[in-house]
Amino acid sequence: MSTPNTETHTFQAEVRQLLDIVIHSLYTDKEIFIRELVSNASDALEKLRHFQLSGETIHDEKLPLEINITTDDTAKTITIQDYGIGMTHDELVENIGTIAKSGSKAFAAAIKEAKEAGSDPASLIGQFGVGFYSAFMVASEVRVYTHSYKTESENLVWISDGEGQYRIEQTEDSQRRGAKIVVKLKEEAAEFAQKSKVEEVIKKYSSFVQFPINLNGERVNTIEALWLRSKNEIKQEEYTEFYKFQSNAFDEPRHTLHFAADAPLAINALLFTPQENIERFGFGRMEPGVSLYCKKVLIDDKPEGLLPEWLRFLRGVVDSADLPLNISRESMQDSALVQKLNKILTGRVIKHFASEADKNPDAYKEFYDQFGIYLKEGITSDFAHKDKLAKLLRYESSLTEAGKRTSLDEYVSRMKEEQKEIYFLYAPSRDSIEKGPYLEAFTARNLEVIFLYEPIDEFVINHVN
Ligand code: ADP
Repeated sequence: MSTPNTETHTFQAEVRQLLDIVIHSLYTDKEIFIRELVSNASDALEKLRHFQLSGETIHDEKLPLEINITTDDTAKTITIQDYGIGMTHDELVENIGTIAKSGSKAFAAAIKEAKEAGSDPASLIGQFGVGFYSAFMVASEVRVYTHSYKTESENLVWISDGEGQYRIEQTEDSQRRGAKIVVKLKEEAAEFAQKSKVEEVIKKYSSFVQFPINLNGERVNTIEALWLRSKNEIKQEEYTEFYKFQSNAFDEPRHTLHFAADAPLAINALLFTPQENIERFGFGRMEPGVSLYCKKVLIDDKPEGLLPEWLRFLRGVVDSADLPLNISRESMQDSALVQKLNKILTGRVIKHFASEADKNPDAYKEFYDQFGIYLKEGITSDFAHKDKLAKLLRYESSLTEAGKRTSLDEYVSRMKEEQKEIYFLYAPSRDSIEKGPYLEAFTARNLEVIFLYEPIDEFVINHVN
């Protein structure tokens, strides 16, 4: 069925609400709309590359996988164009006329909350996946010219001023495959029609995009699959920048673990632990944050099963040249290869934590304060790694000062020859153990006692033989 010449649609109510917030209430950090559109372009190219490699028939097959940005200071426009998968008529309606996820409501609520807390609501945009609409922070009109990668599709243009309605028209315009987003800038946002401003924004947010970005014909990014480079050549600042880019983060990574292996599987991994455990703030359960690639092609950005659940706080990238590209998300979890990857990665990560504990005990203590809870979760849920994880536990004891912790290994090394077991007492605080009735009996016999303060610790210790 072909699209009539012009057809007018009303945005879904949630989108209207969202647009209203974007247009009328977000004033700071307007520049992030460039990051959002570039990131959509990059996703569309990533998907196209995937289809190419799995042998699909593709319209306009030979086009380069790149992103072209052009600014027009006279017309006051910025255009972001990609040769990605593009959209069909129905996809236009579905993807940028409705919000499938209940995301927008959550977004509106989060904005309200952020404003009340005095923080910046714009930083929420990327995280809620409403990126495209951020263009309306700066636009008096947005046009999306597109041709899907599917061979039988039309040249279409989607047009809206963000105020309630949009139109879709057929266009004779010689649109190639992919999408071209033309943003007509409002007077007060005219700076985004200037090359120097746009270049600054791209460098700030999009340096690591995996496809060439050309600005008015000149290449501006340095496409880096940082994880494939040798770690001797990489500075910590580059890692930090990559971490921020890849995890949408604002902090510095606490740990950076970069390694390569050839056997039994080819792996290049670049993993980070964040500063904060955000689950502590009641944000709910974190989603997996380590993306899976095969030779720089993204397979899944939230792969289930690549790492055990208890490592869901890790961020970063794993690239394995041994993975079949057409592995589907559904079959991932059952895949023997993915299980093998999981085993190797988990082993490396535990080893890294152990060496940190050994080399930088103070830093490890801070890490443990934030993420110790996950190690404990691992002990109770990951039978294969329980014993290694137990070595990472740290507790106060009757022989440590308050606030200082010991490992179970150290405890064992202090045990008298005839002592065969590890003793522990559970109470909410050191004080209540020391004042309580039980400790005396142990100290009288010269036995060290581990102090447990959290209910989960009793459970954890029961899992440790
Ligand atoms: P998100 O990217 O988080 O899904 P967006 O609001 O930014 O949310 O985009 C909505 C959807 O519109 C995308 O999921 C994608 O399907 C489609 N889309 C946006 N930009 C492009 C593009 N350049 N090429 C193809 N599809 C796109």
